[in-house]
Amino acid sequence: MRLELSVSERIVRWARAKSPWILHLNTGGCNGCDIELVAALTPRYDVERFGILLRGSPRHADVIVVTGPITVQMKERVRRIYDQTPEPKFVVAVGQCACSGGVFRNCYSVIGGVDKVIPVDLYIPGCPPKPEAIIYGIAQLVDKIARGE
Ligand code: SF4
Repeated sequence: MRLELSVSERIVRWARAKSPWILHLNTGGCNGCDIELVAALTPRYDVERFGILLRGSPRHADVIVVTGPITVQMKERVRRIYDQTPEPKFVVAVGQCACSGGVFRNCYSVIGGVDKVIPVDLYIPGCPPKPEAIIYGIAQLVDKIARGE
């Protein structure tokens, strides 16, 4: 096993950890988590100090932040958006609905949590989680990226 990273590998890893651009995707939640996520993106919490930027296209994003449960209608769309995101990509499930289906679990139109459709790297529970919890979760992800995991 190789222990040392080359200079270029270290630069790439550093750049990745310093600029996690995110795509926000609501797959069918009640909008409570969206409001908390939007609050986390405001100057009050200032996530740009971590290099976190909200992007409108999966092709420009490193991290897909999903709020809400996966509905039957959204299943294929979520897969397509995941496939459109370039590697290496990471998925964060924000809120109880995205983690497991939450209050919508067992509903006729709901499949369950995000991990029923695409792999999830980080779960942030709560209904809804506070902006501080979302920022803490994304900081954990940034740590993971910096370690190359
Ligand atoms: S976790 Fe709670 S706040 Fe978030 S989408 Fe589900 S019901 Fe709404």
